Amino acid sequence: MLSNSLVSRESFVMKTVAIENLTQKQDELVDAAIAVLETAYNPYSRYFVGAAVLTRSGAVFSASNVENAGYGSTICAERMAIGKANSSGARDIIAIAVTGRSDNFEKSEITAGPCGSCRQVIYEFSQVSGCDIEVILATADKANVAVTTIEELLPYAFGPKQLQMNISKYS
Ligand SMILES: [Zn+2]
Repeated sequence: MLSNSLVSRESFVMKTVAIENLTQKQDELVDAAIAVLETAYNPYSRYFVGAAVLTRSGAVFSASNVENAGYGSTICAERMAIGKANSSGARDIIAIAVTGRSDNFEKSEITAGPCGSCRQVIYEFSQVSGCDIEVILATADKANVAVTTIEELLPYAFGPKQLQMNISKYS
């Protein structure tokens, strides 16, 4: 890093919130993600991820990770949940909750964040819904919760705007 970097490191500090400070809708979305956690198909990593997306109309779509012997064919919970919403005709996503746990280590204090590919997909749908999608990260026991947004998680993102795509018909 340049010694005179203009980037403020403060902006990268995870903002944790107490569970009681979540709104009821945020808390319900976290619960929806936790509810599908154990359905993960994860023979390779034994890492469980649950994700739930909330649409503007209040619909919730949740999914878990689906792994594959060809590791690159694995699909993350976040993209599964977004796919479910999309195939149900609900693309106006305004929030996503993500939770995770592992069979390989004791409970983590660290909330699971979306991988880079999922951040890219969440960003795409933030362009469809026309809002900075809220991303709620929670440990499976809800002891640690952080609330952020996709623009915070994926700054300077590449999306439909850069391609001058009109995606309004998908909204
Ligand atoms: Zn992912």
